Amino acid sequence: MIKINEIYLSVQGESTHTGLPCIFIRLTGCNLRCSWCDTAYAFYEGKNMSIDEILQKVEIFGVHLVEITGGEPLMQDNVYTLMKRLIEKGYKVMLETGGSISLERVPKDVIKIMDLKCPGSGEQDKNNLDNLKLLAPHDEVKFVILDKKDYEWSRDIIKKYKINETAQILLSPVFDKLKLKEMVKWILEDRLPVRLQTQLHKIIWDKNTIGV
Ligand code: SF4
Repeated sequence: MIKINEIYLSVQGESTHTGLPCIFIRLTGCNLRCSWCDTAYAFYEGKNMSIDEILQKVEIFGVHLVEITGGEPLMQDNVYTLMKRLIEKGYKVMLETGGSISLERVPKDVIKIMDLKCPGSGEQDKNNLDNLKLLAPHDEVKFVILDKKDYEWSRDIIKKYKINETAQILLSPVFDKLKLKEMVKWILEDRLPVRLQTQLHKIIWDKNTIGV
């Protein structure tokens, strides 16, 4: 069984797959409490579903791309079997994780999108930097930027660990807190090898709408 908060079809609002139709499987529970979290509704609420039930529900949507997200999906042990079963069925699978739990057991075909938590999140101490050694070229590292201090912290970590040599890098300003224009200016000034992420779903729908 896996505790599931919601399963729904939408367009991918983040990552290098932005704009593509995607099925989202949101798992309940998170071990972090980021100051700007926009999915606190997934901390506790959900219902237990078997992997077969989840696969049946996913199949109905008829879409090839699936994202497993949360909360923190790696908190539930059965998520590894779910990822394996989805891959076996031919889905392209993305995993969105907060970055505090080891990526060691994630199947290699899964596209890992791992956060590195900046100081503004309040969860910087939970980053598991060993995960950087487990990334493949198809994986993505995401920094959510609250302010200039977060940006500078991210820039320094990217350079120190040469993250752009192993994975794609996404920089995403906290919606309503930092202007895209401002962050783009910093990226261009530093010629930083990163991709700007806009959270497309919050532009299409109201920022507080869930299940879209
Ligand atoms: S890791 Fe994600 S779900 Fe958990 S508190 Fe942070 S932003 Fe929210």
